[in-house]
Amino acid sequence: MTAYVFNPPAVQSLAIRGHAERFPINRLFFVGRNYHAHAVEMGKPVDKAVERPFYFTKAPQTLLDSGATMPYPPETNNFHYEMEMVVAIGKAGFRVSHDQAHDVIYGYAAGLDMTRRDLQLVARDKGRPWDLGKDIEHGSVCTEIVPMPGHIIDSGAIALEVNGQTKQSSNVDKLIWNVREIIADLSLFYHLQPGDLIYTGTPEGVGAVVSGDKITGRVAGVAELSLHIGPAA
Ligand code: MN
Repeated sequence: MTAYVFNPPAVQSLAIRGHAERFPINRLFFVGRNYHAHAVEMGKPVDKAVERPFYFTKAPQTLLDSGATMPYPPETNNFHYEMEMVVAIGKAGFRVSHDQAHDVIYGYAAGLDMTRRDLQLVARDKGRPWDLGKDIEHGSVCTEIVPMPGHIIDSGAIALEVNGQTKQSSNVDKLIWNVREIIADLSLFYHLQPGDLIYTGTPEGVGAVVSGDKITGRVAGVAELSLHIGPAA
């Protein structure tokens, strides 16, 4: 037994639909600007012919179950939702080919990439890292994992409401880089491992929430999520 001076952080995990066992989390990857209309609303349109996808990461400790209440985070006045389809990796893969990408997929989930937009844009425009804008305590919301081993999702509605009012409504068939392309590209840089989650990007319609708001959202055929925004803590 290794002795520690204090208790180490717990392993983060998510429920799996239809299973008693939980899905242990390794890493959280996020694709930036992966829907054209969102890239345009951020003032940074994407030309797939000359650009490659880019990524950022958040600590696994930022994971929060759907249905929870998230405290309004400190040091922001523009706290945004981003509704995303999440791919759960179930097998190791490095330099995975486009044609074999399905093989590393365990399943899918619906997630929220919660963002301090004010800090993210300052960082972006000053050429600084995005961590303070993105790597927010409790800011990686995710539903249970829905097992679909070896299955590629190419289409399906993705939508989000705030207090019942629709804010985002699109389809994952509008992903600039689709699930196969993301897995092939990301696995050039990382040895993908079971337990990695890939948040695939958000469609247009991002916006701010405040304390007391309730977010609901869904990826058709996958899962529905909800999040309450609590008081600052
Ligand atoms: Mn995002």
